[in-house]
Formats: sequence, C-alpha cells, structure tokens
Amino acid sequence: MDFTLIIHHLRKRLSDSQVVISDLEREAYSHDRSPYFGPVSLDFIILFPHSESDVEFILKTSDFFNIPIVVRGAGTGTTGGALPVTACLMMSFEKMDRILEIDVENRVAVIEPGVITGNLQREVSEIGLFYPPDPASLETCTIGGNVAENAGGPRCLKYGVTRDYILGLSGFYVDGTPFHFGGKLRKDVAGYDMIGLLVGSEGTLAVITQIIVKLIALPLEGPLIHCAFTSYDEAFFALNSILTSGVSPSAVEFMDTACLKAIKTCHGIDIQDSDHPAHLLIELDSHDAEQFKKDTEIILDILNRSQSSVQVMSSASEKEILWKTRRLISRSLKQLFPQKISHDIVVPVSRVSTYMAFISQLSIESGIQIIGYGHLGDGNIHVNILIPPDCEDAHIGEILTLQILEQAILLKGSITGEHGIGVTKKPFLNLMFSEYDITIFRGIKRTFDPKNLLNPHKIID
Ligand SMILES: Cc1cc2nc3c(=O)[nH]c(=O)nc-3n(C[C@H](O)[C@H](O)[C@H](O)COP(=O)(O)OP(=O)(O)OC[C@H]3O[C@@H](n4cnc5c(N)ncnc54)[C@H](O)[C@@H]3O)c2cc1C
Repeated sequence: MDFTLIIHHLRKRLSDSQVVISDLEREAYSHDRSPYFGPVSLDFIILFPHSESDVEFILKTSDFFNIPIVVRGAGTGTTGGALPVTACLMMSFEKMDRILEIDVENRVAVIEPGVITGNLQREVSEIGLFYPPDPASLETCTIGGNVAENAGGPRCLKYGVTRDYILGLSGFYVDGTPFHFGGKLRKDVAGYDMIGLLVGSEGTLAVITQIIVKLIALPLEGPLIHCAFTSYDEAFFALNSILTSGVSPSAVEFMDTACLKAIKTCHGIDIQDSDHPAHLLIELDSHDAEQFKKDTEIILDILNRSQSSVQVMSSASEKEILWKTRRLISRSLKQLFPQKISHDIVVPVSRVSTYMAFISQLSIESGIQIIGYGHLGDGNIHVNILIPPDCEDAHIGEILTLQILEQAILLKGSITGEHGIGVTKKPFLNLMFSEYDITIFRGIKRTFDPKNLLNPHKIID
C-alpha cells in the first residue's frame, strides 16, 4: 500500500518519532505472544500518541483515508488481538503511560491506558491501597490491554477480574468522536452498561484513552501453603473441601509433576516433593493477622486428612520461589515444546476434576502429552497440548483443540476464561454461540464501527 499521502498528513501534527515506518520496528510490532501461524501484514505504520488529542487526530486520519486501525498495548496478548492482519495504522499506547491521579478520598486511580499493571499496583500499595487484578504478565502488560481483554489472574478467586474494578472509561469512537462513561462512582445505572460492553471488547468497538479504576484497602499478606498430593483425586477433593470450608483464599493454583519437571529442566528450580503427581498453592490474605491463624488451621486440617505433604511458607523469599515456579510453567513448556498449543478454558469449579480426567484420557488416547494447570480455584484451566518436535501429524493440534474446547462447553464452561477470542479462537466462536447471537454481535460491531476500520477480523468477521 502506498502510505505517502497518509504519512504526509500525519506529520502535519505528529513528530517523526511518533510516526514509525522502519522495517525493523514493523517486524517487531507484527507479532504478539499468540501461537498464531496465519498471515500477518507488514504493510503498516506505527503511531505513538502522547495525548488524547493525538488519538483523536489519528482516528480522524484513519476515518478520512478509510484505512483500518489496530490498537496495541504491550503486545502480550495470546490470541492475536493486536496483530496487523491487513494493511493498517497501528496505534501503540506505550507513550501514554501516566498515572494521572490517585484519589484517596474516593479510592480510585485515574490512569492512561499504557500504564503497566504492576507499576499501578506498586504505586497504590505505597499508600495502603490495592488494585487486585493480577495477570501473570503484570510486569509487562498494560491496563489498556487488561481492560480490552478483561484480564484476570490467580486472585480472581477472591477479588474478581478487571471488569470488577473499572468505574469509568473515556476514549473515542472509531471516527474520533469522544465518549465518557461512568466516573469516580461506585454506583451508576444510567443507560446501557457501556463499560460492561467495552471491557473485553478486544479493541474492536472503541479506543480507550483514560481509565478510572476502583481501589480497595491493601490487605496483609498471609502464608502461602504448598501441598504435594499423591494423586490428582486427592488434590481435587482437598480443593473442593477448602472452597466450601468458609475460608476465602486469595488464590488456589494447581500444577502437576510434568510442569515441575519442565521448570527443573529449563531453570534448575526444584521445589519440595516435586515428584508427587499433583500440587496446590493456596494463598491467604486478610486485614486481620489473627484471621490467618484460624484460616491456616482450617486448611491444614483439611490437607492433613489426605496423603499429602504440606509446607506453610511465611517468608517473602520462600513464597517468591513458589510463585516464580508457578509463573515459569508456560515459558518452560514453550521452551521444551515450541509447537505447544495452549488454551485457557474455564468450567464450573465443581466440574474441574471431571475436566481434568477428560484431559488425561485424551492424552492417553491421542499419544500426545496434554497437561492442565492454573487457576483451579476459579475453574480456569490452562490446557497445553505438547506437540513433540518430530510429530508428523500436521492436524493433530486442530483435532485435539476442538475436543478440548467442546468438552469445556459440554460441562457448561467457556472456551476462554482470560485470553479472549482475537484471531486464534475466532473459528470456535460458533461452538458457544448461536447464529442469532453472532448476528447480534455483528450488529453491535456495525453500530460502533460501520466501516469496519477498528481492529477488523478480530472476534468476528
Ligand atoms: C507470560 C504471559 C502470561 C499471561 N498471563 C495472563 C493471565 O494470567 N491472565 C490474563 O488475563 N492474561 C494473561 N496473559 C495475556 C495478556 O497478558 C493479557 O491479555 C493482557 O491483558 C494484554 O495486555 P497488553 O497490554 O499486552 O495488550 P495487547 O496484547 O497489546 O492487546 C490486547 C488487545 O487489547 C486491545 N487494546 C489494547 N489497548 C487498548 C486500548 N487502549 N483501547 C482499546 N483496545 C486496546 C488490542 O487491540 C488487542 O485486541 C498472559 C500473557 C503472557 C505472555
């Protein structure tokens, strides 16, 4: 595509460093963290707005020249939401990364979309406040990307996901017209729930330029309990007993021995009893130190009823080793199985053990190792198909994917609990929704974006 006229127009207002067309940069911005093997376009210009008026100008330019526009946060998305799949303008929010205000009285922060999630958490924690959503990518991903994907993490179990913390959104519709929804308000039921619609819309409906997030009081960090079980069944029985015991852990994570072996091979980290088949990490927090003692006792009582080995970690360094281990799973599996395909299905917590049994059986029948780990406390299982490098069956990944997603739906679950649809999950949308539902989705998209310029070919065509 010939960008000459568009670049000429953009440079009337933006500086050279805000309009980037080098091949090196284009290559870097042409992928994210998704296992997407379809075609991407290298035919795009990368734009770095510094202000809302830059964003407005860029959107008006896209509208005037009828050229698609793709918005990008940090590119950590795992379903290809920020990929350029056609010739386009790519607007990166990296330079709009200011925390504009921390309003203690109203317990909110007003931020730009490019703020890194971990930076917001650290900044507010210094004054005793807490922003709980904790995707494992929090040291690199942006709040704008979290809003667009409705990101969640281990603490979802107790605190919910990104949507539960968004009180206000400002930004622009695709033609550059501004909008403001919500505010520093704990309650607001005027009109349709536009914040609910925009959170999780994967950059396909509107561009978000300012976010008001709800903050809560920072709890005290409690112990992290590591429990190694002699069987999966014991682990799931303990999981259900804990979740129905009245104790409210901030996270319950599951790993199996295959995950731990991969971490040992790739990073040399080995945790106690790593040869046991199933492991739970149970994190506690509270505003009352006495509560920890009571909750820990209840959990230990449950765990000690099984053939498990239990460790209670209280020091920050001990806890960090276990959390690091948990966070390294995905990277280690990828290093050992570069062709791995991962899914983030979710099922009702009561069906977790049924789903895990299904994966084990599928693994045996297919001869391909399939493992599930992750946020089992909220039913969100990261299912990884570990395709070996010498696998000769080019379609095995697709065949197993279909079975893995169908089984989640059969158990009244969902094909994605965290990572969204983007391009990689688009072919499976009709497993979950009727043709009528998808027609309604298309109608919503057309209303927001009649010319189909904003992040086209994502979620739906
Ligand atoms: C190692 C690793 C661990 C991860 N762990 C988790 C996890 O625990 N939980 C989880 O939920 N996800 C996880 N993810 C996925 C990913 O980090 C999240 O989806 C994250 O929210 C993406 O943020 P980003 O800034 O990288 O967005 P990008 O990948 O750049 O973009 C994602 C989508 O958001 C849209 N978008 C970005 N900014 C805006 C904006 N301002 N306005 C409108 N649309 C916008 C883009 O168009 C795109 O569709 C993980 C990823 C990795 C690589």
